[in-house]
Order: sequence, then C-alpha cells, then structure tokens
Amino acid sequence: MSEQPGGRGARLPVQGVVREVVIPAGVAGPHQLIMDVRCYAVAQPDGIVVIDTGMPDAEMGIGAAVEALGGGWPDVRDIVLTHLHMDHVGSLFAIAERAPLAAIYAGGPDSPDIRAPRHVSPIGEGAMIQDLEVLATPGHTAGHISLFHEATGTLFIGDAAAVAQGEVVRGPGAFTSDSGRAEESLERLAALGPERILFAHGAEVDSPSDALARMIGGSH
Ligand SMILES: [Zn+2]
Repeated sequence: MSEQPGGRGARLPVQGVVREVVIPAGVAGPHQLIMDVRCYAVAQPDGIVVIDTGMPDAEMGIGAAVEALGGGWPDVRDIVLTHLHMDHVGSLFAIAERAPLAAIYAGGPDSPDIRAPRHVSPIGEGAMIQDLEVLATPGHTAGHISLFHEATGTLFIGDAAAVAQGEVVRGPGAFTSDSGRAEESLERLAALGPERILFAHGAEVDSPSDALARMIGGSH
C-alpha cells in the first residue's frame, strides 16, 4: 500500500489482504465481473483487529497481514464483520479457530445469520472496538456497519461503496437490500470527511471524501 505523510496525525497501522474473484455472468449483471475482495488487519492498543475475513481460503493472507503488523494469531483480539455476505465471512471459521482469543462482532440485524464457531456479538451505532467506532450504515444489508478511526480519519467502509476503474461507486444494486437506506448511509459517511477510506472492493483513491461526495451528487 502507498504510504503518504499528512492527515490528522500518524497513519493507522493497517495491512490489507487482496484477492481477485470472478463473478459469473448473470449473477451481478449480464456480464462477467472481476472484482477484488479486501479485508484488513489493524494494530490497536489491546491487540489486532481483523475487519472482514474475505472469501474462503483467505487465512494465509490474513495471517501474513497479522505478521506484517508484528503479531501472531494469539494477538488477534477482535474479528469484526461489516456484514453477512460470503465474501466478508468466507474465512470466519478458519480465522476464529486460529485466533481462539478473538471476540467476533457483526451488526445486530446481520449477526444471527452469520455461521460461526462461537458467538457473534451483535454491535451497533456508537460501539467501540478498541479505538474503532462502529457506525450503523444499513442499506447494503440491514445490519451493515462501517468502522471509523477518528484520530487518523480512517474509514473502513465495508460495502457501503466500492472503487471501480479508480472511481468511487455504489455497490452493485443486485446485492443491495435497501437502496434508499444505502444512500442515507453514504451521505452520513461522506459527512465524516474521512482522510482515508479503505474499501472491501477496490483500491484506495486520492481525496476519497471528494470522490465520495462527487458520487453522491452525481447520477444514480
Ligand atoms: Zn456485500
């Protein structure tokens, strides 16, 4: 990942895990779609937070990300799922088994439908996962959440938005349960003015707040 100085202060220590996935024609539209799936490991004061677990077989990549932060599986304290879709919970069993000390969290409405080797604690607006604030951002799913690290202005946006061809875009309509609520969530996220947005699909963009505002202001 590119590292640039500036922002509200020190950059958040975060490692991304990227995997390319081919979606067959007819699933998310008439054409085959190649997208990348990203999940993250974040160093926090009391241990590492894993945000989403990618597709099945992501555990090697997530393990490497944890190591790149100077830790190992016993240092993973929290596993947070932005929502229940397969490309976010695919390696949950593998990660939870390797990190037996980690608590698992997901947004309240999504949490009962996530299969996990142990309890998935429902979380909602205003909860804190160490220094990461939980934002309820429903729309893509009813229990979709985003995470915001205020001190560095870093937003983990989940699937509330994505990046395609270098532009911030809405998630595919076929996978969005309530587009009206999704739009309200986007407006709220843009209002935070994040310095840095980490997407579940697509690489970071420069001036992400402007890009997000441009998308919201543009055509649907
Ligand atoms: Zn999704």
